[in-house]
Amino acid sequence: MKRFIMSFVLLDNLITGSLKRLFPTRFTRTGNCKMCGQCCKEILLKMTPAQTSSALFTSIAVRWISWLFDFILIRIDHENGYLVFTCKHTIPSGKCGNYFWRPSVCRNYPLVDYFEEPKFLPGCGYEAAIK
Ligand code: SF4
Ligand code: SF4
Repeated sequence: MKRFIMSFVLLDNLITGSLKRLFPTRFTRTGNCKMCGQCCKEILLKMTPAQTSSALFTSIAVRWISWLFDFILIRIDHENGYLVFTCKHTIPSGKCGNYFWRPSVCRNYPLVDYFEEPKFLPGCGYEAAIK
């Protein structure tokens, strides 16, 4: 069941990624993943203030994400509006233990969006360059 739903999530990510290529961003991502696993230790998922102020919404979102992605909630950052998770599939070497089925948030990380210069964790193998 989980794999069936993930197939649609990943198909959606593929289509969205293809469409985004039609509207290029100002920055591009250069470099490579060093497979250090740093970014899997704390995964920040953005929420709106309205979402974080609703205990019911937050509870449903946390349950859904935990079940579908095998993430584990560490804390809720109310101040900055993030659900902060770690992942059951991190393995000691730093590599992903669920690479084929990893969720979109992992496939798209580090995210290059349309408005802000991308930020990277210290020691990450990626950098940002202006196109
Ligand atoms: S922090 Fe950067 S180099 Fe390390 S696993 Fe994540 S994306 Fe790869
Ligand atoms: S699914 Fe893989 S890439 Fe994503 S957080 Fe877990 S270990 Fe990291």
